[in-house]
Amino acid sequence: MNLTTIIVAFLSFILGLIGNLTIQWWVDRKRLKRIEGALKLHLTDIILKDCEVLRREYERIIVAVQQHTSYYLTLKVFETFDNEIYKANNPSDYYKIYGIKDARKFEKLVSIYSIISFLKENLPHKIHSDYITKIDLHLDKNLKDGESREEHFKKCNNCDAIRLDCKSTCQMRMNEIDELKKLIGELLMN
Ligand SMILES: [Zn+2]
Repeated sequence: MNLTTIIVAFLSFILGLIGNLTIQWWVDRKRLKRIEGALKLHLTDIILKDCEVLRREYERIIVAVQQHTSYYLTLKVFETFDNEIYKANNPSDYYKIYGIKDARKFEKLVSIYSIISFLKENLPHKIHSDYITKIDLHLDKNLKDGESREEHFKKCNNCDAIRLDCKSTCQMRMNEIDELKKLIGELLMN
């Protein structure tokens, strides 16, 4: 084996290695692009649209609570309002997509994830049913014989406080929705 043969063998090995690494890099890049595309679609086509619906629901509860009218939730839309897409991929992939270029973008993604999880656990119907439970318990104990609910509401400070509490909870959720929308806008901005 002469020197030329050794050099050629070595160069072939190096070129082969570079080729393999390039292919791996390219495959990985394509995979990350696919994950990023799916996430973008989920955020714009589902989450942002659901945010508008959710916000309107909280507004409806505020009105219903204020006017003592009934509130009913008929929407199925919240089934799609979730974090499944994040769980489907390895967190380190999201870090490669967002964190390496800009750590703040990755922090925004983490905040988006947290807010969606929180809102999902505190959907409008839950807030409203908590309110109804509190009011009913209170009325069971405090409604006088012959007194209508409407008459009682007009002069009871406790009922006012329960109502105010529900309204401020709705307002907080609406503020979180606004924050979520802002974060999504910032994440998707180039
Ligand atoms: Zn009362």
